[in-house]
Amino acid sequence: MSPTEILAKLVAFDSVSSRSNLSVIRWIGDYLAGHGVAAAIIEAPGGEPKANLWASVGPDRDGGIVLSGHTDVVPVEGQPWSSDPFTLRDGGDRWFGRGTSDMKGFIALCLALVPEMLKRKLKTPLHFAFSYDEEIGCLGAPNMIAEIGKRFRQPRVAIIGEPTELKLGTRHKGCYSFTTTITGKDGHSSQPERGLNAILAAAEVATELGRIYDRLRHDGPFDKSFDPPHSTINLGRINGGTAVNIIARSCSIEWDFRGVPGVTPSAVLESLQRFVDGDLLPRLKPAAPEAAVITKPRVAVPPLIEEHDGAAETLLRLLTGQNDSFGMSFATEAGQFQSAGLSAIVCGPGSIQQAHQPDEFILKEQLVAGEALLRRVIDWAEKN
Ligand SMILES: [Zn+2]
Repeated sequence: MSPTEILAKLVAFDSVSSRSNLSVIRWIGDYLAGHGVAAAIIEAPGGEPKANLWASVGPDRDGGIVLSGHTDVVPVEGQPWSSDPFTLRDGGDRWFGRGTSDMKGFIALCLALVPEMLKRKLKTPLHFAFSYDEEIGCLGAPNMIAEIGKRFRQPRVAIIGEPTELKLGTRHKGCYSFTTTITGKDGHSSQPERGLNAILAAAEVATELGRIYDRLRHDGPFDKSFDPPHSTINLGRINGGTAVNIIARSCSIEWDFRGVPGVTPSAVLESLQRFVDGDLLPRLKPAAPEAAVITKPRVAVPPLIEEHDGAAETLLRLLTGQNDSFGMSFATEAGQFQSAGLSAIVCGPGSIQQAHQPDEFILKEQLVAGEALLRRVIDWAEKN
């Protein structure tokens, strides 16, 4: 099958992260089986109907190259699409469809080149690592990555095919999200002093997070390869109260922290906790002994830390002829592979400007260039 035919198949699976990805994983598994390549399906823990897929081509040894992609896509609800997002549409110089850039285009290229990989006598194995739930916090890949060096051979390099227009993404921030829940005491709204209003307390927590963010903006640490060059805090959602005539008993804030490499969220959490324990709770407890402010982690995606002269960057510099690299504004699974001892880089066809947008597309020339790059990877794996 051609890359376009495979891309049309992949786009047709509505694999939005909130739904199962099993049908697209099974299709990929069947496609590989049709070429005699056995795939391992790594199911999500807890019986969730989702799975990763790992497959290898070439010799059974360590030191291979991982080609990594995620099978899930972001939702289309509320977006003004000009045509069905799950039907690949020819737009002249581009293909429209959800996931064309992010990142079924890359997976389609990998699969289309399987016959070519099998024809060669590869010295270096090539591995496919296709995950689920990347878009909601890189939740799927870890239980596949955990098998590296155990059930699966230990590769040396991971190429994460997220859309970079085939430029070399060598670093990105870590992304950590949290829910802070404030508990007060309910009562009739006519007598606010008999209860403890959790919304008012949450407003203080929100303001404190804003102050902590101001310090990060002004005092750093800074890394000029990112835009913005400092770590960030964003409050994304607030949810609290029951009705206008009831004192709000509970309120929660969902927020995220994106740290420049080397900066973990622990300093932010400690700052917040100092405010809560030293200032806020002592003022709340007299009104309601049950008052509480609890922060729980939701998602933790490690940063991709720049590797100076790392194996992945060295290989892709050689294969692409590029000397420049860049820091990405978005988080990927690359840091998770790096944490497992692989040298990791982000490089794939399509543009992040198109990702997550209505009428997402990939330029046909990007698919052509991506195929050429993968052919050079295959050439290299045959010789080295
Ligand atoms: Zn992506």
